[in-house]
Amino acid sequence: MYDYHAHTNYSDGAFLRWMVDAAADAGLDGIGFADHCNVSPETGARRYKRALGFNLDLTYERRRKAIEAVRGAAEIDVYDAVEMDYDPDHESAIADFLAEADFDYAVGSVHELDGANVHARSHFADKSESERRALVDRYFEKLNALIESELFAVAAHPDLIERNPHLRGFATEGHYAAVADALRESRTVPEINAGRALDEYGEFHPSSEFFDVLVDAGARVTVGTDSHEPDEIAPRLREIETELDRRGLDPVRIDEAASRP
Ligand SMILES: [Zn+2]
Ligand SMILES: [Zn+2]
Repeated sequence: MYDYHAHTNYSDGAFLRWMVDAAADAGLDGIGFADHCNVSPETGARRYKRALGFNLDLTYERRRKAIEAVRGAAEIDVYDAVEMDYDPDHESAIADFLAEADFDYAVGSVHELDGANVHARSHFADKSESERRALVDRYFEKLNALIESELFAVAAHPDLIERNPHLRGFATEGHYAAVADALRESRTVPEINAGRALDEYGEFHPSSEFFDVLVDAGARVTVGTDSHEPDEIAPRLREIETELDRRGLDPVRIDEAASRP
């Protein structure tokens, strides 16, 4: 079992070494560090990134040295990956950076909607129902563009909008079917993401109905615990294993996915 989506202190997670130890203790065969990265040229995005204080575009070489150092001692595989903010308007900047950085693989994420982070409850709270419905349409357009861009091995948390109560419940079978169609034509594989499976949201991404549509369309998934702390890895992994067992699904290995046409 491989977890392809975890964070370290090179973005908003815990010490890389602690994460590797916890992954080994959880029984994983490998862990992939997909730290957050944004290469948007827009002023607002640059300001936000400076305020966060992590810039994998500036620190990936240093992180790579740290990964190489732990690989020597670790009993499991450790992948040098990235969780890249995706926006169709910045595709060429993203492509250039991915080509330059040459990660083991890239995870693509739609985190931004209407100029705000999808998680930002206050931004969406006062929108009318029709505005929120239109924004959820826009979210799925961006996700499909991400899949069609062929820039990523993995499409992260495919229904992230469900995590925000103000955007929850607007996704339709039509949205899900369009994602399934896009995936059929792409090398990109969605993940089963347990980032909020154990808290108040209580579901995986994709949600159960979305997962049904994807599986019916023949899609497979990679595993992403989206852990930021060492003690999150094992319980999230157990939840994912249970769900995959229940569905009779084998997760995809990234090297398998990468070699798909
Ligand atoms: Zn994410
Ligand atoms: Zn993440």
